[in-house]
Amino acid sequence: MSIIDGKALAKSIRKDVKDEVTKLTEKYGKSPHLVVVLVGENPASQTYVRMKHRACERAGIRSTAINKDPSITEKELLDTVKELNEDPDVHGILVQLPLPKHIDSNKVINTIAYEKDVDGFHPMNIAALQIGTKGIVSATPKGIMTLLEHTGIQVEGKQALVIGRSNIVGKPVAQLLLNKNATVTIAHSRTRNLETLCKAADIVVAAVGRPKMVTGDMIKEGATVIDVGVNRVEDKLIGDVDFESAKDKAAHITPVPGGVGPMTIASLLQNTVECFTALESKS
Ligand code: NDP
Repeated sequence: MSIIDGKALAKSIRKDVKDEVTKLTEKYGKSPHLVVVLVGENPASQTYVRMKHRACERAGIRSTAINKDPSITEKELLDTVKELNEDPDVHGILVQLPLPKHIDSNKVINTIAYEKDVDGFHPMNIAALQIGTKGIVSATPKGIMTLLEHTGIQVEGKQALVIGRSNIVGKPVAQLLLNKNATVTIAHSRTRNLETLCKAADIVVAAVGRPKMVTGDMIKEGATVIDVGVNRVEDKLIGDVDFESAKDKAAHITPVPGGVGPMTIASLLQNTVECFTALESKS
């Protein structure tokens, strides 16, 4: 069994991004600029925004956080996004989710200019993913595919099971695996035969949010197991996979923490540079 070290790979990607940013800054006379909009004071969201800000700074990417009061109206938030769309000095826009209940997240996502949509959530970018054309791929699924590629795991022809069908992880990762010619099954809360599906899978991606729900007895000998889950249990971060029992069956497995998580941030930096290059080469 080998543990897929997402932390180390993310570190090397962040270094590559930094080198690239240095070159691009020389070429265009300015550096990429990411703006993160945070509504309210959700502690988890605040932590994510801080982590993104720190990672940007280290990579030479300018990063601005705009904090909005939770009472902000939907229209006010949409206007903020539209202003950022129009600002030529802004290359990436990220509205931290979740948003307060009175704001329609889809409306906000749809308003972000798709060329600045570093999260890859805009319908134009989702469509590009479906069709298999160039677009911004959302950070966590992109990070997962980079991990698989870097580890030398062949995806083509494999049976892949994605557990979870959210728009931000499950569906896009399933589509990316399909685009790489895996035979993909998507499981969700109404799936009846999860254990059977899991036992047949060469690649399992668990993105549910239920601590240790995938256990070693569900894993096929020699499978690759990617654990996306982040569950805080008694002040510890626990994945969706029971690492201790699964590691004896899996050939490759990601730990939590130190697997998919660091890759998400590294992929976000890559996306910001991608948006910057596309926008600046056009102007
Ligand atoms: P969501 O809550 O949006 O989606 C969870 C999915 O799991 C749903 O599709 C749901 O099914 C499915 N599900 C729930 N219970 C079961 C079950 N018993 N069996 C099978 N499927 C089930 O979560 P996210 O996709 O946003 O996140 C998933 C996990 O990944 C979370 O722990 C989150 O914290 C983590 N995460 C980690 C990131 C990272 O960078 N490491 C980034 C993003 C998320 P249904 O659709 O039927 O409700």
